[in-house]
Amino acid sequence: YVELKHINKTFNDYKASDDVSFSVEKGKLIGLLGPSGSGKTTILRILAGLENADSGEIYIDGKQVNNIPASKREIGFVFQNYALFRYKTVYDNIAFGLKIQKKSRAEIKERVYELIELVGLRGFEKRYPTQLSGGQRQRVAFARALATQPHLLLLDEPFAAIDAKVRKELRSWLRELINRVGITSIFVTHDQDEAIEVADQIIVTNKGRIEQVGTPVEVYGNPKTPFMAQFLGEPV
Ligand code: ATP
Repeated sequence: YVELKHINKTFNDYKASDDVSFSVEKGKLIGLLGPSGSGKTTILRILAGLENADSGEIYIDGKQVNNIPASKREIGFVFQNYALFRYKTVYDNIAFGLKIQKKSRAEIKERVYELIELVGLRGFEKRYPTQLSGGQRQRVAFARALATQPHLLLLDEPFAAIDAKVRKELRSWLRELINRVGITSIFVTHDQDEAIEVADQIIVTNKGRIEQVGTPVEVYGNPKTPFMAQFLGEPV
């Protein structure tokens, strides 16, 4: 469960977050959708603790995390450019966070194989990232992000660098993964089709503010502002 209350963040003179409030129920996947520069990534960075809000409150599973450093927030990330460790195998990439937590070898092994199974990469554990396709790499990135059982998963355009056909497959793969793991997730995307297909709820941002929140059907069926009508009407 995640809740943001009245988050404000100004860079120089630009309000990247302007009184942003929303909540995500446990196990749900929220899609943050909006034009470039509308403040989507800023919201993720504030949640992750990579950026401090000027004001407002952040709660993760009921706990206020404003003053908790990024490394202690128990958040998993998959970013477009959040690269895997190049010189580590798939196994060692996934094991990374567990080693930091000083888990036993046996525990790490059990968990890593469970994750390899979960993301459908059995047999790939000894490969290096350069020996994988873009889609496979992102699946490893998901396994690595989930390894330490975080409270929240943040996804910033995770499929943006992947070709269209594989990207489509990864959407339904992601939907199933989230259903199976039941982790609260926030997904940033430019791609309206992607948001419709994967998200339980869509939040549309515009100039740092939230324009509309709802299920994909509600948002598309009933755009509430002229901006929404225009934005959703744009060819993609
Ligand atoms: P995109 O889809 O292009 O990634 P976005 O919706 O994620 O856009 P943000 O990256 O959150 O938008 O940026 C919102 C605004 O805040 C932009 O105008 C950006 O230039 C500005 N901004 C973001 N981070 C910083 C920073 N560290 N310093 C200065 N300005 C910033």
